[in-house]
Amino acid sequence: MNVNRREIEEIIRNLGDIRKGIEGKRVLVTGGAGFLGSWICEVLAEQGAKVLCLDNLVSGLKTNIDPLMDKANFTFIQHDITQPIFFDEPLDIIMHLASRASPFEFDKFPIQILKANTLGIWVALGIAKKHNARFLYTSTSEVYGDATEIPTSEEYRGNVNQIGPRSCYDEAKRCGESFVIAYKMEHGLDVRIARIFNTYGPRMRAEGVYGRVIPRFIEQALSNKPITIFGDGSQTRSFCYVTDQIGGLLKLAFLEDGNGTVVNIGNDEEITILELAKVVKELTKSKSEIEFHPLPKDDPPRRRPDITKAKEILGWVPKVSLREGLRRMREWFREK
Ligand code: UDP
Repeated sequence: MNVNRREIEEIIRNLGDIRKGIEGKRVLVTGGAGFLGSWICEVLAEQGAKVLCLDNLVSGLKTNIDPLMDKANFTFIQHDITQPIFFDEPLDIIMHLASRASPFEFDKFPIQILKANTLGIWVALGIAKKHNARFLYTSTSEVYGDATEIPTSEEYRGNVNQIGPRSCYDEAKRCGESFVIAYKMEHGLDVRIARIFNTYGPRMRAEGVYGRVIPRFIEQALSNKPITIFGDGSQTRSFCYVTDQIGGLLKLAFLEDGNGTVVNIGNDEEITILELAKVVKELTKSKSEIEFHPLPKDDPPRRRPDITKAKEILGWVPKVSLREGLRRMREWFREK
């Protein structure tokens, strides 16, 4: 069985009871060709939802959704969600994922990022209002900025540099959350906010300016190129494997009594970036050197979610350990 098939089956198995509520639902996924969006589309299509996948393909990849193109219950629309779009057919759920999310993109495309989470969410919420559809927004741990409370719970209000290099993402996502709450207050929409912590897995880009740390390290290790650590590697992250993340997001989207829920979704296994580099090197049996580069400004020194609320409200818990997830990533790289 290839990696993709195995992961899809795992996500579906982990959904448990909520699986029953998916069939026949009409779901619009913005950013549907991206890393997370494409997994969501695939699971929903497989479970019999009618999936409308919207993506402008500036960072999402058509190859992520190519296998879905001939399914009768899957439609792809190439569109930039910051521009108006109207749907005649009814919609039940809107999942707004559209946004670039890699720190390498923050200084290259800050305006696109701001627009996706302000103008884009405004358009997406307008569609939800017209159809009286449930709305799920994928926010981020970045709304907490350089958190002074670790593990960070949903109550923490953030410590963000509004004029720093990450501002386009952090503040846009904070504004996006504010939009969601405004539509709930003023129009009574059923809304949910997921604050996604670092997530990795197959389909995440490793190459060029886009790569996030795990695919970059694995790609570097497998080709025996230097593993590039930014700073001294003492900064920490807590990495969630994609099958767990998608399970959490779908549980939140399909939870019957979830209106108004704001919840962290991530894995709380914290590791330094230096330790991560060593584990990747070991698992890939790589000869790569470890190379130190300057730390980007405002790179958060620690990040770890408090996931008590997700466990309680969603009955969700991440199951894939970091080592196991890294082994699966290595497998996927070899299969690519
Ligand atoms: N990082 C690194 N080397 C790389 C890429 C990233 O040391 O080649 C570090 C980065 O500075 C950050 C962490 O790894 O501290 C996670 O980076 P990522 O880009 O995955 O996302 P972030 O958590 O910063 O949003």
